Amino acid sequence: MTTIYNFAPGPAVLPKEVLQQAAAEMLDWHGSGMSVMEMSHRGPEFTSIITTALSDFRELMAVPDNYKVLFLQGGGLGENAIVPMNLMGLKPQPATADFVHTGSWTGKSLKEAQKYGKVNIAASGEAGGFTAVPPRDSWKLTPDAAYVHLCTNETIDGIEYQFTPDVAAETNGAPIVADMSSHIMSRVIDVSKYGAIFSGAQKNLGPAGLTIVVVREDLLGHALPICPSAFNWKIIADNDSMYNTPPTYAIYIAGLVFQWIKRQGGVAVLEQKNIAKAKLLYDYLDSSDFYTNRVAKDSRSRMNVPFYLKDESLNTEFLASAKENGLLQLKGHKSVGGMRASIYNAMPIEGVQALINFMQEFASKHA
Ligand code: PMP
Repeated sequence: MTTIYNFAPGPAVLPKEVLQQAAAEMLDWHGSGMSVMEMSHRGPEFTSIITTALSDFRELMAVPDNYKVLFLQGGGLGENAIVPMNLMGLKPQPATADFVHTGSWTGKSLKEAQKYGKVNIAASGEAGGFTAVPPRDSWKLTPDAAYVHLCTNETIDGIEYQFTPDVAAETNGAPIVADMSSHIMSRVIDVSKYGAIFSGAQKNLGPAGLTIVVVREDLLGHALPICPSAFNWKIIADNDSMYNTPPTYAIYIAGLVFQWIKRQGGVAVLEQKNIAKAKLLYDYLDSSDFYTNRVAKDSRSRMNVPFYLKDESLNTEFLASAKENGLLQLKGHKSVGGMRASIYNAMPIEGVQALINFMQEFASKHA
């Protein structure tokens, strides 16, 4: 039987061990006689699941004590509204948020934020076709901005920050809000450099439905009056992510993923593996005249690798043939076309090697 490797951008591949454990525990979690899906979110069983998941998350990300970790619903796009509703109130109204526009996801974020305040595009990669993170010294930030929004990994464009910017001097200390949906826990980051981090779970952490927010405590309590209570970070924090029913099953699976990451040796170990996987694939793309990647070398994502066949009339055959070889979901996003290999934490290096072997064979067949 062919080994299957799933290159989906999200929902995406999960560690097999996690799926096997979830399957074994599906009907009866730890002798409780219930599936996790059937439990009260306030009962002792689920309380132990969420408490462990929260403390494992804090440990893996080295979250400082003055930050809250929130488990909620709404996804990345939900946060595009939830962030301005919670943070525009940090400054007198109408407040301004700065955005560094790096691609599809910041494009959506800044459009949504305009409903809740003023938006300043501090820098944009649009003129270059979103192939690089705009250099830090080109950013035109707003003095007294409420916050500065970045997407530190653009899932569609395949662009990732390889540096942590400091914006305090030009903004009078505005917090950075980072959308880390597609690379959270794939590399070591210093949480203290950010005011808030948000991420949907469905790429590196678990199934769709869970959204994680990490927020510095002093940023809580400034929500605009229109902010729904269920999305008010202070209310969620004061209620330990139990103000409303949290996405219980997704939290359970994410908790199993956190334990898997701990067994791998933690985020630093996964980061080294991710560097090796990405290098293997980019080195092959750079050596090939059959395939191309358009992203500047210093902005290339370790998680999402978009590439194009030089002869795009072969796209359909490439995808069909890849699928026959067990290499799934390689089609690029419809807005940019081409192909995209998402190589999240749960993708082993063997999967990347299998993809390269297939790409080589396909190229020589069509040379
Ligand atoms: N931000 C980023 C970086 C993403 O990759 C995605 C989803 N692919 C989103 C936001 C939107 O997330 P959701 O679909 O969970 O709203």
